[in-house]
Amino acid sequence: MEVTNKFIAIKATIDGEPQECDFELKVEPFSLAVKPGSKDVIIKNIYVSIDPYQLNRMKSVSSSKKTSKFAPRIAPGEVIGAYGVGKVVASGNPEFEKDDYVVGIISWGEYSISQGFMGCWLSKLDPMGFPLSYHVGLLGFSGLTAYAGFFEICKPKKGEKVFVSAASGSVGNLVSQYAKNLGCYVVGSAGSPYKVKLLKEKFGFDGAFNYKEETDLDSTLEKYFPEGIDIYFDNVGGVMLEAAISNMNSYGRVALCGVISEYTDVGKRAAPNMLNVVYKRIMIQGFLGGDYMHLFPEFVSTTVDHIRAGKMHVLEDISIGLESVPSAFVGLFRGYNVGKKIVRVSNDLEDC
Ligand code: NAP
Repeated sequence: MEVTNKFIAIKATIDGEPQECDFELKVEPFSLAVKPGSKDVIIKNIYVSIDPYQLNRMKSVSSSKKTSKFAPRIAPGEVIGAYGVGKVVASGNPEFEKDDYVVGIISWGEYSISQGFMGCWLSKLDPMGFPLSYHVGLLGFSGLTAYAGFFEICKPKKGEKVFVSAASGSVGNLVSQYAKNLGCYVVGSAGSPYKVKLLKEKFGFDGAFNYKEETDLDSTLEKYFPEGIDIYFDNVGGVMLEAAISNMNSYGRVALCGVISEYTDVGKRAAPNMLNVVYKRIMIQGFLGGDYMHLFPEFVSTTVDHIRAGKMHVLEDISIGLESVPSAFVGLFRGYNVGKKIVRVSNDLEDC
């Protein structure tokens, strides 16, 4: 059976701040039947993840395309692969059956076909009684990134002083919750008074500040960390990274998860004081969540325990309809999202 598939594509490569007009909605014929003898899995998409890293795939030149199999180039006009949850329509792969829920790389569209795309990262999903959207963020790739980055890279100890930037964002809020559950002192930065209030009142941060209102980030961090920072979980790079390095303690650890402030403006690239790094023996490490897939079962089991014990809260921000993908994506770079940004592309409420 053939249907039409609507999907979102870029019109041309994007090298600055993305705008909604950089995207277009395309419609193409799409077969719901599996080609005879193929192992294709045809998926009806339900929820798709909206992630900052996609911008690096849309640039004319970016290191992400050369070094990460998770971030291949996005060509103008083509389907954009993205993390998400869907339902199997037809399968030539014996591991999947019609009506199975699946999680992994699908696309910013109504339907996806999984045929070895980006390493064929697709798994059968047991929702475990949670809403399907949880498996896009909290129990999905953002969660794994937060878990692996915090526990594997930062190697935290109870009582340590932890600073998290973009702390009300998808990865940031989860890192902060893991840190609080471990018994760390946690301070976060975010870009609005509403977000700061949320971090302090809902998530019980020891401190939070609106970085847009601060004129001297070095002094701000000194005020919140009079005894210095042991761990900095960096989501933003730029001047915040420089200020954090100035306030790190000896043997401090910096997990470089992302540098969103630099994605739209290379002129904002961080130049931390490297003498501090040397004399304080600071460890700075970049990492990719996708390198820690082996931790997925451990991460899910720990996180589910926290959720069921009421020790972890979900913070998600869901837009409705495929047409909202461009505005949802552009909004990440303007701080419009609060928590995990997701778009529900299916109208079938029974699946949501
Ligand atoms: P997110 O934090 O939910 O959304 C992005 C947030 O970044 C915005 O809400 C905004 O919050 C903040 N932001 C935007 N422009 C900024 C700027 N110029 N300066 C400072 N903050 C800015 O997104 P996410 O998915 O959790 O990703 C967070 C970071 O982790 C990104 O850098 C992303 O690329 C990275 N990441 C890395 C991996 C990995 O495997 N290494 C995986 C997932 C994500 P405010 O209102 O606070 O400004």
